[in-house]
Amino acid sequence: MAIFPIRTFGDPVLRGRADPILEIDESVHRLVADMLETMYHAPGVGLAAPQIGVSRRVVVFDAGEGPCVLINPELIESSGEWTFDEGCLSVPGHFWPITRPGFARVRGLDLAGQDIEYAGDELLARILQHEVDHLEGQLLIERLESKLRKQALRDLREEALGFGTSE
Ligand code: ZN
Repeated sequence: MAIFPIRTFGDPVLRGRADPILEIDESVHRLVADMLETMYHAPGVGLAAPQIGVSRRVVVFDAGEGPCVLINPELIESSGEWTFDEGCLSVPGHFWPITRPGFARVRGLDLAGQDIEYAGDELLARILQHEVDHLEGQLLIERLESKLRKQALRDLREEALGFGTSE
């Protein structure tokens, strides 16, 4: 296992659509172990493979019930609405109020290749949607309303140029 640097906003690997896992081989087991170690070290509650530079459809998360793994996850149901100050390890130091469905159900495979589903409200629903978005090359900024989104992009660009906040 190893802790990997987390790719941040601007890295092209975060913008691509990740490749499906066709076979759960040793490389997938190693990837999951590395992702969990990196997520807990950050610390964070969820991590998608592209965030450590691997464009494959694997996510890990821990919504308080221990480590969970989803391979080739798909959002199969969502409902309601919930606004939450959402952050992302790939956009460190920022939180924005983002409205998403309050309930989500995601289906995928576990490390043994068995079908597995996770469903929940609020924080779990948020993590599931956020991580599946990463596999589609979508960052939370794209979920912001257009005015907030423009401001967020401006802030991030200024930060990248080195005259951002002095926090
Ligand atoms: Zn994220």
